[in-house]
Amino acid sequence: MLKLRCVRCGHEVGGVEYVSSCPQCGGLLITRASGCLRKGKGSGVWVWGNGLFTSFMTPRVTLGEGNTPLIKSVKIGRSTGLTLYFKDETKNPSGSFIDRGSATLATALKYFKIRSVVVPSTGDLSISVSTYLRRAGISSKAYVPSSVTLSKAYKTLLVSDRVKFVDSYEEALVKALKSTQFYDAAILPTNPFLIDGYRTVAFELVYSLGRERPLMVVVPIGDGVLALSIHYVLEDLGIHHKILGVRACKESPLLRDIYVAKPMLQEYLKELEDSGFIEVINVCDDEALEASEFMVKKEGFLVGPVGASCVAALKKLVGEGRKDFVTVALMSGDPLQDPYVIKALLERTAGREEQIVTLGFTKMKILEILAYGNPAHPYVLWKELKQKHGLNLNRRSVYKHVEELISLGFLKVVGHERVGGRIRKIVTITEQGLKHLT
Ligand SMILES: [Zn+2]
Repeated sequence: MLKLRCVRCGHEVGGVEYVSSCPQCGGLLITRASGCLRKGKGSGVWVWGNGLFTSFMTPRVTLGEGNTPLIKSVKIGRSTGLTLYFKDETKNPSGSFIDRGSATLATALKYFKIRSVVVPSTGDLSISVSTYLRRAGISSKAYVPSSVTLSKAYKTLLVSDRVKFVDSYEEALVKALKSTQFYDAAILPTNPFLIDGYRTVAFELVYSLGRERPLMVVVPIGDGVLALSIHYVLEDLGIHHKILGVRACKESPLLRDIYVAKPMLQEYLKELEDSGFIEVINVCDDEALEASEFMVKKEGFLVGPVGASCVAALKKLVGEGRKDFVTVALMSGDPLQDPYVIKALLERTAGREEQIVTLGFTKMKILEILAYGNPAHPYVLWKELKQKHGLNLNRRSVYKHVEELISLGFLKVVGHERVGGRIRKIVTITEQGLKHLT
């Protein structure tokens, strides 16, 4: 059986009782297993049963997590000279890599007969853990900042038995720890049974990419847990590696789900930064949005700013002599579902390239009349809108609609007509206007 080893004092723990940190010093416990990597039978993360601490626990909980696509970059890799892959963790059951850990955690909690837990979270952790706990029949209460995206707030409400929205992640942590008298356990991101499953992402990378070349893995740093879990697996397997941790800038509302003011594992991260295993790069909203667009246009990969933040970080590194590494950017987080993110992306696109315009009913009718009829001046359009389409508008507003359609490039002026003392424009529909109609 494998052991959990304290990163700080080296103390080892077996599987006799439930622990959430080192009983000796309160340090971080991580599964350590040196040597070979064997893929076995089973589903979800359990194909790596031999390398998991929780493998002896039954019944195993799974929703088919892990075994996510590893996709080679076609454009970005070539243009940067990197051998680059994308690990698509959005394909996990709840959309994030956390599902890997939730499978092993839910299995352990069931094994230790824990019936209720409290989960403080920035969003993704409580969604994933509570989803798996539903499967295992364990009740959960989530503490989540009220600033989470709409879709995450909704999902949290769906999967958790109780939800409390608070002002910040820090407050969520404090409140969750205070309420443990009413619950069997508080699930912190540093829970060793959660980390046990995270390690499978590194297993999959090594299994697919081999051990010949050094590996650089780009991940959102968050509280530091994923970066550390990957580092220790690669160290135990003797693979030369580097972790690039992406940290969200403070004032970045689009990346707020991965922003952690003070990573819980700062102490350990600092040590690994000093020894050169981990490098942290800051990414802000603009850079992540640009990378999100870039991923769609260059790679055909639909990913939101959180997932694309890893590519944004890579772009900052280009030309710094990392070409001997096989590089993997891990994509996780909301895949373009949040209305706030979509609005920000739309505004960017509308401002720069083809305009995304939603025309109102009257403008669409004007385009229709001109598409099926002859060029006309606004007075004729006004009359037709009234007589044939029952739209009783005042003439000035029809003139205004026509002017706006001209400025959008959907109508063009093809001549003028003198009526009494006034000159009227004669307009017709453009190619672009026709395209908009279809
Ligand atoms: Zn310890």
